[in-house]
Amino acid sequence: MNDLVQLTVDEDRCIGVGQCELLEPEVFCLSDEDTISRVVDGAVLDRARALAVVEGCPNMAISVKA
Ligand code: SF4
Repeated sequence: MNDLVQLTVDEDRCIGVGQCELLEPEVFCLSDEDTISRVVDGAVLDRARALAVVEGCPNMAISVKA
């Protein structure tokens, strides 16, 4: 069974590199205005992919919602 989780971006930590959007373009959207990444409303990922994107963020800005 798929274990789906939600993710969150700490906007104070995001440095706008865009790695998250590259890895999961349907979950993350990098704003053209402030170059901060935000999670698309209602987006979920299975836990393995979520952990991969958490680890891929160069500034530890992404976390799994409890
Ligand atoms: S990978 Fe991390 S620092 Fe880069 S845009 Fe995504 S949340 Fe921000």
